[in-house]
Amino acid sequence: MGTVYAIANQKGGVGKTTTAVNLAACVAEAGYDSLLVDIDPQANATIGLGVSKDATLTVYDVLSDATGFDDVIVPSSIDHLWLAPAGPDLAGATVELPRLPGSEIKLREALEPIRDRYAFTLLDCPPSLGPLTVNALVAADRVIVPVQAEYYALEGLAGLLDTFSLVQRELNPRLTIAGMLLTMHDGRTRLAQDVEREVREHFPELVFDTVIPRNIRIGESPSFGKPVIHHDPHCAGADAYFEFAKEVAARG
Ligand code: ADP
Ligand code: MG
Repeated sequence: MGTVYAIANQKGGVGKTTTAVNLAACVAEAGYDSLLVDIDPQANATIGLGVSKDATLTVYDVLSDATGFDDVIVPSSIDHLWLAPAGPDLAGATVELPRLPGSEIKLREALEPIRDRYAFTLLDCPPSLGPLTVNALVAADRVIVPVQAEYYALEGLAGLLDTFSLVQRELNPRLTIAGMLLTMHDGRTRLAQDVEREVREHFPELVFDTVIPRNIRIGESPSFGKPVIHHDPHCAGADAYFEFAKEVAARG
């Protein structure tokens, strides 16, 4: 039985896409068949895997009932890793979805027939709590929350957890929080250390042990259309994402 993870945080630029792409690449590297579903109209995960954001069929076509995932999923250039690409058309779904009956279960229904083909299905969410993210939370078994190790890190996290509880109560009793992942952590600064301590104090059970450092190689790898573990397998950023993937797998 495959596990579906939503990578979610309503803030932009906190490392959701980076985490989705690199976690997917790490579990694929370990030999698990994995699927990355890009549900952000910005299509950063799609581009980050070196796939054009102008694919003829995207997740938009799935959510609008035009087709199923079988017609949308493409192999990536990495063994064991498949991609359901996004494109700018997905922005339309934000407006159209709320008008459709049962709109919040569209993604879950579409994943149902295919999810067991993949040990890991990762949903890269847009930076909002709109209909696309709600669809992801309804389809997911677990949610991973990347948290940027910056001054406003805690802001909005309590509200985000309330949203998870609401979805769990009303729409998806299976949903659990896999954990919060500190990202872009600059160990040389006092600020990053303070933020890490504060987040761990607030959410003692929830924060992953692994911390993702701020790392140039991570930042530049999307421009090569590659996850960092393929761009520079031995850099600190690659090491951290390998560690993180092990922790996710161990938490089950
Ligand atoms: P989100 O999906 O939450 O909007 P991204 O994963 O796209 O965030 O990250 C935002 C920007 O920060 C991107 O340009 C990405 O390459 C960069 N980035 C993410 N994580 C790191 C890191 N650990 N070190 C350096 N740059 C990073
Ligand atoms: Mg993103």
